Amino acid sequence: MKGLMQDWPLLASTILDHANTNHGEREIVTRTTEGPIHRYTYADLHSRSRQVAKALEKQGIVLGDRVGTMAWNTHRHLEAWYGIMGLGAVYHTINPRLFPEQLVYIINHAEDRIVFVDLTFVPILEGIQDQIGCVETFVIMTDAEHMPQTSLKNAVAYEDLVNGVDDDFAWKVFDENTAAGLCYTSGTTGNPKGVLYSHRSNVLHGMAAGSKDAFSVGSMDAIMPVVPMFHANAWAIAFVAPMMGSKLVMPGMQMDGASIHSLLEDEQVTFTAAVPTVWLMLLNHMEEGNLKLSTLKRVAIGGSACPQVMIEKFEKNYGVEVMHAWGMTEMSPIGTLGALKAGMENLSQDEKIKQKLKQGRAIYSVEMKITDDNDEELPNDGVAFGHLKVRGPAVASGYFKGEGGNILDQEGWFDTGDVSTIDSLGFMQITDRAKDVIKSGGEWISSIDLENVAVGHPEVAEAAVIGLPHPKWDERPLLIIVRKDGSNVTKDEILAYMDGKIAKWWMPDDVAFIEEIPHTATGKIQKMALREQFKNHRLPTAAV
Ligand code: ADP
Repeated sequence: MKGLMQDWPLLASTILDHANTNHGEREIVTRTTEGPIHRYTYADLHSRSRQVAKALEKQGIVLGDRVGTMAWNTHRHLEAWYGIMGLGAVYHTINPRLFPEQLVYIINHAEDRIVFVDLTFVPILEGIQDQIGCVETFVIMTDAEHMPQTSLKNAVAYEDLVNGVDDDFAWKVFDENTAAGLCYTSGTTGNPKGVLYSHRSNVLHGMAAGSKDAFSVGSMDAIMPVVPMFHANAWAIAFVAPMMGSKLVMPGMQMDGASIHSLLEDEQVTFTAAVPTVWLMLLNHMEEGNLKLSTLKRVAIGGSACPQVMIEKFEKNYGVEVMHAWGMTEMSPIGTLGALKAGMENLSQDEKIKQKLKQGRAIYSVEMKITDDNDEELPNDGVAFGHLKVRGPAVASGYFKGEGGNILDQEGWFDTGDVSTIDSLGFMQITDRAKDVIKSGGEWISSIDLENVAVGHPEVAEAAVIGLPHPKWDERPLLIIVRKDGSNVTKDEILAYMDGKIAKWWMPDDVAFIEEIPHTATGKIQKMALREQFKNHRLPTAAV
């Protein structure tokens, strides 16, 4: 027997309609690429997104067409997303930090017909435009006054395109499983692969991400997504905020400590989200200037493991609660968040911080399990660690155009490539990427745990750990350090600091100092590049 409820397709346009009807007056504030702060409301976003949809329709864009966006977090980028989706086309977020060859690959693979591009990235596209013939029109996200001289084909100023039409556009209605967005993984090996979100997955994921034990936001909140929209959907915030009627603060291109701090304070932000490197810059800036945070309540930190010292600083020095988050592009992207559970209220602050070092519990719509190398499920006892597998309605079922073949096992589980534990209360803790874990004498050493301890040293700016071959133990850890400006901290001092904080046999066999650690397009440490750089490094313990 079927239920007698209305069949209401979960389309992105319903989110914006809801914001317009119920929160039309709520503000969206942007630090524009041109410089000044721009302010308007959800009612304006609603109207302008329909103008975008109408303008794209006029350009011949139809259901299923891909439209690229290479842009910072701004109100225009939001309008473009909702306009594209409202027409039934697919926004393809292009990560500008990819190498030119990768940009050429993904734009052609996606067959983007139009690309919306911020002023900052015009030169990048000019450099590759001969190789991206599929793009018919480039929309420069600015007004006529700021329009640059450009060789880009059919270049048009965004404001001219949008203002060339009115907002008399009725959202298209189609099946909720229709593709809505496309985001390529950064592809550390091989070509990037496209993750194709649907309207249904974006809506369901947004609802789960906004809930109490997740981002916990409502209409009283002001949210600033520092995590870019081109990095895994800005962690669903572009959907969560209009669903909840939260004020949105879009930081644009300036992510330095001073710019972020001034927006947090001036716009009375209560919740924000980004990768650890962004928060490192903010914390340094605040420490140097003896600054405070007067309205911020919670910060979500993920994308890489959040070091303990960062949780301590936010919670102890600034009274801001840290939500450690884990996920991946293939998961829309949120998998887990570290909200505490009933019974943990009375833990001491230090015990709570220890708990928050774990990557957290699955949000509704995510199932997780860990397995051994034979695909046998391991116990959720917080000790056994194995391959972390996930499934759910906002987890990828395959990559765009079938690249990479079948990515699910028979029961529909997707292997995340991470190794983790899960405890009896459901808290998951990442040990490492399967390919980064250090295999020493048949046991595994977590490079993440070692990095976490090393960055706690006050003179360490950044730390990375890789495994190097060892005649007796197979692999042993090499700790690679970037010192803070002006520091001369030595190997012995670092090792003395780490001694006692980790198991003896985990202690790095050597410490190397470099000027800069290479990062991927999504801000992760490039272990492959480090392994290449240190392939001839001989561990002192490996001498025969
Ligand atoms: P990329 O395109 O760089 O692969 P993703 O954001 O999809 O970007 O990367 C997902 C991976 O990032 C996860 O599988 C995991 O290894 C790592 N990751 C994300 N969040 C965390 C976290 N909180 N702690 C440790 N690792 C994390």
